[in-house]
Amino acid sequence: MKKMKIFRKMTKSSRTCFGIWKKLLSIFFPSHCLSCEEIVSKDALFCSECWQKLQFISEPKCKICSYPFEVEIKHLPPFCSQCLLKKPSYDRSVVIFRYNHIIRTAISALKYRDQTFLAKKFSTLLVSKSKNEIDACDLITAVPLHPKKLRKRKFNQAAMIAKKLSPEKFITDLLWRTADTTPQVQLRKKQREKNLKRAFVMNKKYRNNVKNKKILLVDDVMTTGATLENCAKELKRRGAKEVVVLTIAKTVF
Ligand SMILES: [Zn+2]
Ligand SMILES: [Zn+2]
Repeated sequence: MKKMKIFRKMTKSSRTCFGIWKKLLSIFFPSHCLSCEEIVSKDALFCSECWQKLQFISEPKCKICSYPFEVEIKHLPPFCSQCLLKKPSYDRSVVIFRYNHIIRTAISALKYRDQTFLAKKFSTLLVSKSKNEIDACDLITAVPLHPKKLRKRKFNQAAMIAKKLSPEKFITDLLWRTADTTPQVQLRKKQREKNLKRAFVMNKKYRNNVKNKKILLVDDVMTTGATLENCAKELKRRGAKEVVVLTIAKTVF
């Protein structure tokens, strides 16, 4: 109440200053839950309530696509049925969460709130789980957006996260998206795969950077894996030795 009275007494310019100061404070001392915006301690990513609803992907899981298994069956190969049926072009993956409503809200926030600060938080999560992969790789890139979409959104959230993993290894335009595909979540699997075929091409100016190299490919969410598969396929076609996928979350059907 007292705060409200003080705020009303402030002049317009002092209120603007107050707003700028508040924004500066929130940038330098971020303290909101990534999902529900509840105030949290300085370095926390989620409040305790949201944290409990997060579902981490851990062992046992598919060694390639990170699909979580209910139980480990010792005598069977450590791959899910989908990867056994058709081995993906990428070699393995690091995924932190199962995709759920908490993660969906957090990833949407990256698109509409302070992107730099949120990308930093997401990259911190990825570094904590994939430091070895980041240290060992030659290049890092992200799943690209089609130029039309990039112009509309102004930034690629996957690229923002990827760059923060290791700015010196990051190449933003390693892959081009040549087809403006319909948002993947709205389509059935077969249609998605058809749309994504040849949707990605490698930028020719990097042809000598990719041969025999280990590449980290970053995206925010792995849905069916078709987008990442097509990016990885193009990188392998151009001579990449290894492609490792890094995503914040994965849809588990
Ligand atoms: Zn929360
Ligand atoms: Zn798999």
